[in-house]
Amino acid sequence: MSNVLPIMEHFYTLQGEGRFAGTPSYFIRLGGCDIGCHWCDVKESWDAATHPKMEINEIVKIASETCKTIVITGGEPLMYNLDQLTLALKNNGCKVHIETSGAYSLSGKLDWICLSPKKNKLPLPALYQKANELKVIIYNQHDFLFAKEQAELVNTNCELYLQPEWSKKDTITQQVVDFVLENPNWKISLQTHKYLNIP
Ligand code: SF4
Repeated sequence: MSNVLPIMEHFYTLQGEGRFAGTPSYFIRLGGCDIGCHWCDVKESWDAATHPKMEINEIVKIASETCKTIVITGGEPLMYNLDQLTLALKNNGCKVHIETSGAYSLSGKLDWICLSPKKNKLPLPALYQKANELKVIIYNQHDFLFAKEQAELVNTNCELYLQPEWSKKDTITQQVVDFVLENPNWKISLQTHKYLNIP
């Protein structure tokens, strides 16, 4: 197993989205993604070769000395085996969260799995039952139907979130609010870090 991972960026900030919005977290953003969402706001993450490889021990030391809640994101972090990274973080007393499309096999020791399914490459079946949080990005009307279909596949304890896509927020957020009022098993997730203008 490789001792290095392509790391696009790593930084300490507030989690902006979903169940842990507002929580201080250390983000590790891995480079590499082949899902191809046209509205992706981190397209510069897609080509793993453009990001420096970093020793796992080094990133674990920096992250765990800064904060004990670590969010592994991307790109698509499950393109890599995360066993070594997550075990080292856990051994340093961290809670480890992941944000994933679910299109690749699950690996690693994880405390919270945020599954954000994408239509162009659906999650692997096993991911649905493992997810703690389902976060569906709402870009257009069909995404509401997609969200309902995806919610049928997750486990009964999984928390359900709809998140207005940032470029559409002025037109679609009210529809998301209306949907949640009509479907109270869902909650809205806003990209609060973007409103706060923090990373
Ligand atoms: Fe971007 Fe995430 Fe979609 Fe990959 S899965 S293209 S990183 S939004």
